[in-house]
Formats: sequence, structure tokens, C-alpha cells
Amino acid sequence: MKILIVEDERKVARFIAMALIEQAYTVRIAASCAEARDALAESPCDAMVLDLGLPDGDGLTLLAEWRKTGFKEPVLILSARDAVEDRVRGLNLGADDYMAKPFSVDELVARVRSLLRRQSGSSKTTVLNHRSLRLDLLGHTLERNGEKLELTAREFALIELFFQNPGRVLTRTLIGEKVWEASYDLETNLIDVYIRRLRQKIELPGEPPLFKTVRGTGYQLLP
Ligand code: CA
Repeated sequence: MKILIVEDERKVARFIAMALIEQAYTVRIAASCAEARDALAESPCDAMVLDLGLPDGDGLTLLAEWRKTGFKEPVLILSARDAVEDRVRGLNLGADDYMAKPFSVDELVARVRSLLRRQSGSSKTTVLNHRSLRLDLLGHTLERNGEKLELTAREFALIELFFQNPGRVLTRTLIGEKVWEASYDLETNLIDVYIRRLRQKIELPGEPPLFKTVRGTGYQLLP
């Protein structure tokens, strides 16, 4: 699941990103209103952590704008403004939760998870099936015929990306951007190492392979 972090303080954004990535979420950071608009226009997210004081505007304006255009995903406001009227305004504009800075990152992750869980009660797909595999995006588990396969957070994010894009050839660049933050220095063969590990963990001897290596490009999840 992908979380958009709209936060102009780099350190804070990184800190939140690391904590979410550790829990197998995919993140994207936007440091201004403009970047946040671009990020959402480019690809949807499943939830958002929204700072209010942004260099080119107010997070509340963004929120109002998005809700008006039908953006339904949960939004958690994270702000240094802790006045009751700010909270009330935020919630009235369609925020689902509000946390004041300074904050506990563990609590933030827990609240994001709970927002996503609540949201999934509606119509969102939170379980992806492929062959005999069942990927639970909220529980962060991968099962084959009811048997749980142990994955690290990063492996989970990687398999999620493939399950979300079955049959599509995913380039190394795209995988790097989605599973590792684009800003990370990514050793070029790191993705190959991870795919190899996933193959070892998931593919069964005697069964057709799960991933196809597309030479010079990337990988594809086979039907
Ligand atoms: Ca700020």
C-alpha cells in the first residue's frame, strides 16, 4: 500500500518514510503543495500524511481541493498547529485523523494502519490472489494454501508491486522508485538479489516460474 507523505521538513519526512517502509508500505514524499498535486496526479495513493505549513501554501487548502474532486483515501494531518480550531477545521474539511507535532512515529504508523483498515471496510481490494498465493495487504502476510510464507518488509513491498501489476514488465527503474525510495542510492544489482530471494522463498520446484527475467529491462510476474 502506498502512503503519500506531504511534509516540507526533510528530516521529518524521511523519519516517517523509514518507519512506514519498515512496515512494508511504499511511500512517496512531497515537500510542497505543488509536489503533492503532481504526486497524486501521477499515481494514486492509499493514504496520506499531511503537514499543514507548506512553503507554497496550506495543507488544508490541498485537502479541501482533493475532497472536492472526489479523493476518498484517508488523510492524517500532522501539524505543529495544535489549536482546537485547527483540528476542528481539518476534520471538517475531511481529514480522518489529526496528530500534533512533536509526535511518536510508532503512534503515527499505528494510526495510519488503523485508517487503512477502516477504509478497507468499504470497497477497497486488500487481498490479492495469484495462483495459489494470497497476499493480504493489511495483515502484511503472504500465504500459499493457508500456509504463511515469511517475508521481510521490503520483500513484501516488492511482491505487492508485482501482484498489483500482473503480466506487466516492471523495469528496474520503476521497481527502484516504488519499492525503494527514488532518492535512495540503489545498487543496480540489489533488485536482482531481492528477486532471487523471492524466487527462493515462493517458487515451488516443479511449478512454472513466478517471475520472468526480461533481459536488460526488468521482471514480469507470470500468470
Ligand atoms: Ca511544515
